[in-house]
Amino acid sequence: MEKLSNPKETIQVLQKHQFQFKKKFGQNFLIDPHVLDKIVDAAQVTEEDFVLEIGPGIGTLTQYLCERSRQVLAVEIDKNLIPVLRDTLSPYTNVEVLQGDILKQDIQHIADTYNGGNRIKVVANLPYYITTPIIMELFESRVPLANVTVMVQKEVADRMRAEPGTKDCGALSLAVQYYAEPYIAAFVPPNCFIPRPNVGSAVVRLDCRTHAPVEVEDEKLLFRLIRASFNQRRKTLQNGIANSSELPFSKAEAAEAIGRAGFDSNIRGEKLGLPEFARLADVMSQMRVRSKEDI
Ligand code: SAM
Repeated sequence: MEKLSNPKETIQVLQKHQFQFKKKFGQNFLIDPHVLDKIVDAAQVTEEDFVLEIGPGIGTLTQYLCERSRQVLAVEIDKNLIPVLRDTLSPYTNVEVLQGDILKQDIQHIADTYNGGNRIKVVANLPYYITTPIIMELFESRVPLANVTVMVQKEVADRMRAEPGTKDCGALSLAVQYYAEPYIAAFVPPNCFIPRPNVGSAVVRLDCRTHAPVEVEDEKLLFRLIRASFNQRRKTLQNGIANSSELPFSKAEAAEAIGRAGFDSNIRGEKLGLPEFARLADVMSQMRVRSKEDI
């Protein structure tokens, strides 16, 4: 069997299995061999590696990963794709397919089972409707990760590497930069997919850090604070904190924390970078400890 990475083979497989695309699962399948090579190159996959693939589709990228790695586990949500994958991946002995939602998998267990608990590589042409939740889940669950190489909307790739204080910078930028160093490997036009998406795409490799770039007492509080600031980016930081359902601080307490961290009372969260958010989160942790002591 020829590899799937061209329009002719892809259409043949889709017709053979009478497959209907499902928009709700963000299904846009790759049909360009150069892009597939670029993704696998960017992921720096070697024969020793275990790779977790999210959303294999009909197995196009999976075939490339099987040829370059020791073992692949591919997690696909769409039940109708399982028989297709059984067919297209039949020449490969180093792949397993798991049907399910990636957001419901125990990835630590996957790393333990397939990679002796060592750092894993994740590769995906991501469904665009849940790009951010998937990336945040991978990072926040503290799974051992070496790198995460993903195809995302170009605009999301720009946000991932945006500098603090710029218009593209948001909660995703700061989270990605806290956990990883982003590197853009390629820009990919819509005609490399079937069906064509409405937006341009980019391949991004996130090299996961072994040490955080800033020290903070309470990581969860740091990310609640970052989300609160960018949820209402037109409001002052003080109002963002006070209005957040994730943070137990009144407007007066928010003002006190902002003052103690050395910021102007009218500052907006979008002006701050990771070191400044970490400083404020530490002040807020101390205030919370003190208020518990007072009770
Ligand atoms: N990897 C294939 C390729 O490059 O041609 C398909 C990529 S397509 C953009 C995204 C794939 O992710 C689809 O097969 C879709 O069914 C699957 N998917 C969507 N949501 C998912 C989820 N929550 N968990 C696992 N797979 C999901």
